Amino acid sequence: MQDQIKQQIERLRSQGATYVDARWYPFEESNQLLMWNGNLKNASFSRESGIGIRVLYKGAWGFSASSDLGGLSGLFDRAFENARVAAERVTFPVRLAEKDAIQAKFESPCQINPFEIPLADKVAFLKEMDGRLDQKGVFQRVSSLTFIRKQIVFLDSEGSQIEKLITEVFASLEVNGLDEHGESFERKFRLDRRGESRGWESLDRPFFAENAERIVRELNQVLTSDQCPRDERSVILLPGIMYLQTHETIGHALELDRILGYELAYAGGSFVTLDDFGKLRYGSEKLTARADATLANSPGSFGFDDDGVPAQNNLLIDRGILVGAITGRQMVEEANAIAHRSIFSGSGGTDRATAFYRVPIERMTNINIDPGRDGTLEDIISQTAQGILLDGDRSWSIGSNREQFHFGTEIGWLVEDGKLTKPVKNSTYKGDTLKFWNSLSAVGDSSTWQVKYVDNCGKGQPNQVMQLGHGVPVCRFDNVRIGE
Ligand SMILES: [Zn+2]
Repeated sequence: MQDQIKQQIERLRSQGATYVDARWYPFEESNQLLMWNGNLKNASFSRESGIGIRVLYKGAWGFSASSDLGGLSGLFDRAFENARVAAERVTFPVRLAEKDAIQAKFESPCQINPFEIPLADKVAFLKEMDGRLDQKGVFQRVSSLTFIRKQIVFLDSEGSQIEKLITEVFASLEVNGLDEHGESFERKFRLDRRGESRGWESLDRPFFAENAERIVRELNQVLTSDQCPRDERSVILLPGIMYLQTHETIGHALELDRILGYELAYAGGSFVTLDDFGKLRYGSEKLTARADATLANSPGSFGFDDDGVPAQNNLLIDRGILVGAITGRQMVEEANAIAHRSIFSGSGGTDRATAFYRVPIERMTNINIDPGRDGTLEDIISQTAQGILLDGDRSWSIGSNREQFHFGTEIGWLVEDGKLTKPVKNSTYKGDTLKFWNSLSAVGDSSTWQVKYVDNCGKGQPNQVMQLGHGVPVCRFDNVRIGE
């Protein structure tokens, strides 16, 4: 198969195509299970295979994809024909940043293939967790498992040949309860990075049992708590909400295609402009953020992107100053041309497609915040005069250019004179992105740093759902509006 694909790539090159690549998925499997109040509501399995072909001709892309590999040469011709038609309407000719031709293999770490585990064992796991969640105060309980396994073979006209085998496991537990007024509250647990691999072995029963107990206990705390006060104070974000703050107001804001306006029609733009790189004070000096696709064992680490560019660890914000973006081969060239200066020295290796029948676009890898020097969570709490400790994403609302935000969290605990006092319900906070990050006053050390997984980041038209990660420490921000 690979030889046939190579022949087709060479054929289109000889016919005048500037660049050709193909992503062949020998298989992609997905398996989802969901248990709701003890009943198995979903146990679905899907398997697909196919190929996606991109052709660049006179500055325009053409694309074709099919699950039928029988008519391979017709499929390549169709991609080329699409590029020819598009080339008649080009407003900004596509150029691709240089890259090396690579022959390589990548496998995400997995000890036990979850697709070899019998369905009965998966259901037994959910049943056990459901039983642990079935306690006083809980009126609705949801446990879910998602498994993905895919093989991708990438070939291009520049001599690259890359094979990837990726296995993902996502798991979550959720409990809902009603307070005395009948208002509903929730508390969730999601499996995040633990240990060295994420096959079936990452479903560690004692660890899940411990967290099931915790979320039930914390839900009951919320149900009997007072309302979150409405005032201005310090907020201390645990990784369970810090990841979303980072995702929405650093990650999405720094996707280069969004900065160039490509997402405007769908999920909005970015307040960041090309002029800002190298000088915008994004946050306080305590803020260093990076796009690190080299982090071991995370859905945001995939070896090579779908342009065939190796995974990288790039700074986005260096001690508060904006220095980088989430980039791929095409957008860095376009951005440099528009800015009339070389802002980006090459692709950051972040182009990914959600399936063989979608084109790669810039996606978050692991968008991380470096641990800081302000000690443990206890140290940060003890040095906070008046604050609130927040965890768990409950609601989010973001300005169309990521310039403001409002988040509701599952739980909050008030901090008075350096001590945690009591839990509160309906805890929320809001802010202006730059003002907020500039109010960052404490960053926890590596003991507070966790890698959170995201399995449902949406972007692009048609929509592409992507998996990624966020390594984040506990962080404190000052003078933040809460409770409104
Ligand atoms: Zn997202």
